[in-house]
Amino acid sequence: MSAYRCPVCEYVYTEAKGEPHEGFPPGTSWGDVPEGWCCPDCGVREKPDFEPVPAG
Ligand SMILES: [Zn+2]
Repeated sequence: MSAYRCPVCEYVYTEAKGEPHEGFPPGTSWGDVPEGWCCPDCGVREKPDFEPVPAG
């Protein structure tokens, strides 16, 4: 499982946790998140702007 971080507010989307408030249950892979999905915290950045968080 991987995680991806918003470059603006440092919100992190973690695949293992998903984002139930946004309709993504735990285990939702990053690939299943729509390209036009916006950061739920800042609402400024979209999925393509997110940066992979190194594992470990
Ligand atoms: Zn953000």
